[in-house]
Amino acid sequence: MSMDLHRNVVREAGSANRGVKLLHDPVHNKGTAFTSEERIVLGLRGLLPPRIHDMDLQIKRVMENIRVKNNDLERYVFLSALQDRNETLYYRVVIDHLKELMPIIYTPTVGEACQKFGHIFRRPRGLFISASDKGSIHDVLQNWPHRDVKVVVVTDGERILGLGDLGADGMGIPIGKLALYTACAGINPNQCLPITLDVGTENKNLLSDPLYIGNQHPRLKGEQYDDFIEEFMGAITQTFPGVIVQFEDFANHNAFRLLAKYRDQYCTFNDDIQGTASVTLAGVLSAVRLSGKPLKDQNILFFGAGEAGIGIGHLISSELEGKGLSLEEARSKCWFFDSKGLVVKSRTDLVDHKLPFAHDAEQQSDLLEAIKLIKPTAIIGVSGMPQTFTRAMVEEMLTYVERPIVFALSNPTSKSECTAKQAYSWSNGRAIFASGSPFDVVELHGTTFVPGQANNAYIFPGLGLGLIVSGAERVTDELFSVAARSLAHQVSDSDLKLGRIFPALERIREVSSQIAYDFAMAVFNRKLTKQTMPDDLKKEIKNAMFEPEYTDYLAELKQAIGVIN
Ligand code: NAD
Repeated sequence: MSMDLHRNVVREAGSANRGVKLLHDPVHNKGTAFTSEERIVLGLRGLLPPRIHDMDLQIKRVMENIRVKNNDLERYVFLSALQDRNETLYYRVVIDHLKELMPIIYTPTVGEACQKFGHIFRRPRGLFISASDKGSIHDVLQNWPHRDVKVVVVTDGERILGLGDLGADGMGIPIGKLALYTACAGINPNQCLPITLDVGTENKNLLSDPLYIGNQHPRLKGEQYDDFIEEFMGAITQTFPGVIVQFEDFANHNAFRLLAKYRDQYCTFNDDIQGTASVTLAGVLSAVRLSGKPLKDQNILFFGAGEAGIGIGHLISSELEGKGLSLEEARSKCWFFDSKGLVVKSRTDLVDHKLPFAHDAEQQSDLLEAIKLIKPTAIIGVSGMPQTFTRAMVEEMLTYVERPIVFALSNPTSKSECTAKQAYSWSNGRAIFASGSPFDVVELHGTTFVPGQANNAYIFPGLGLGLIVSGAERVTDELFSVAARSLAHQVSDSDLKLGRIFPALERIREVSSQIAYDFAMAVFNRKLTKQTMPDDLKKEIKNAMFEPEYTDYLAELKQAIGVIN
């Protein structure tokens, strides 16, 4: 660099983010990767160890640190600290090691992190909106530093995974989900906003824990709660026009109601209900391909009739309607078993969301007996009740179906209805298995089985990208079917040969961009947006995807002072 140019660049840099401030800015920090010229012009000389390490070396150091940690919670804390320090490096590491790190930044480890959130808390991330903010939620939202927010993930912490009411400690969930939006589909981190609505908690331990991070009072209920959510929905959509609001881990007595109330008013969806339904439908479609038995000939028994189960039931029913069945016929293929037993017409204790699936049959309170009675070809565990699928149940299914579908979707791993190994060994390898949290590969009599993980992260990031690119104003149920079919189409024959009914996680960015494409096409075709379709939608999607790469500050500064290289 000539002396003149050097002086100009230094002068220009004087007004830019520099020195210690730059090192403490996670969005722009490059740590030891700042080049010697950048260190001169950005006032970093002496503030960093002399040796320059490029990103590859930094990744090596991070992975070395992660792998020597004693447990996954420590790994979670380490990764959160990296996210707070150097966002670019954090996302590069997560993307490059997604299979290894997804179970740390999301389920199952995020569950433990939420259970101990107040105890491992270091730095705040996202927004906390408390009951005491009622009447001024709009003002709280103004404190968020970014204006171009496109995706909000919001929880009130009442039903975190299968772990119950964790109040404000549930913040780990929106943070984790949004990290996956970025890692899996390249949504720019600046466009993501995690929010916890601290409306209180009924969790006695938290109410008496001095390190709990939320307000220690019982939950808002009834009208007070509804008014609070109403104010939030109005304020968030006004502050960030066009934003997508993803509801996450609300208890089912609120989740179904709020979805019904807001789905036609705002661009919103509930991932526990609709995202789960979409990924599970994709899994069922792949399992059907593997089993050779068409969907219309499957008989599905859901163990658990909450947000996940009922959501899946509706989406499978609408898929069957698309195959020519009447709605009644379609629903008759989906049976439910809840904490009181088989969901049948004669029961008088059923809440509204279960009624469409209450069929004519005798009441059964034992799951094995229910299986004998209705002879399901697929059992889908969404109960949060661990070890409730048994050898006897799977053996019973084998008496009438060649390839039983066994999905044990309860999270985290400790809540799974059965393990992958159990499902494969009980069925001598005939079961088609998927779980909610990851299980290791199983070797059985010389054959390798790769258990599928019905991870919602296969759907919501791609769907979010499709929404952003298309400018869709609503998320209709049909769009979840589109996303499910898109995902199922991306399962190759070689995946199926291994028993894997979802694409390999390593392909997730490619998979998400295809889902975004299919989703956006459907939005444009059905005129669910005011935008016109771009000439090259694929290119538009590619360009919209954030790639974690370091900025060349020198080039930027030269450009700012009008120097052409
Ligand atoms: P929920 O609280 O809405 O529903 C739970 C249901 O299980 C209720 O219908 C309840 O009656 C039933 N249940 C409870 N105890 C039972 C028992 N002993 N026998 C039979 N049924 C019983 O919760 P949800 O959102 O539906 O989630 C349920 C589980 O599914 C959780 O563990 C969650 O982690 C998991 N899940 C997995 C995925 C996924 O794999 N992608 C997605 C969402 C939820």
